[in-house]
Amino acid sequence: MEHDASCIFCKIAAGQIPSRVAYEDAEFFAFHDINPWAPVHFLIIPKAHIPSMAHLDASHAGLMGRLMALVPQLALQTGCRPYPQGGFRLVTNTGAEGGQEIHHLHFHVMGGPRPWARG
Ligand code: AMP
Ligand code: ZN
Repeated sequence: MEHDASCIFCKIAAGQIPSRVAYEDAEFFAFHDINPWAPVHFLIIPKAHIPSMAHLDASHAGLMGRLMALVPQLALQTGCRPYPQGGFRLVTNTGAEGGQEIHHLHFHVMGGPRPWARG
């Protein structure tokens, strides 16, 4: 699996930087955002260092399908309320104009009662 020694999210996934872990398996790591926009705000990342969504191609279809299938399960486990009254927002920032600050592919999952701090 590809890792980047200077990447903060690779270090979080490896347990080298502490985080509030929401989920972990062989392929994925989920942890609560340090600066939450919503009552529930966690990030889910592939452990493999993929810099952004711009780097995805057909070879990632299985990995990304498994990640997407995890999202509703983790949303409920972290306190998002059930659809349709509850639900969640899924966001991926890509590149400078997409607002990406950390260049390790990550999906923001936000939910919980409104109003939110942002968004
Ligand atoms: P972006 O790259 O713009 O999609 O956002 C990166 C996100 O990572 C921001 O929401 C940050 O609050 C979050 N973040 C940065 N460092 C940490 C950390 N050490 N632990 C948890 N979340 C972090
Ligand atoms: Zn990384």
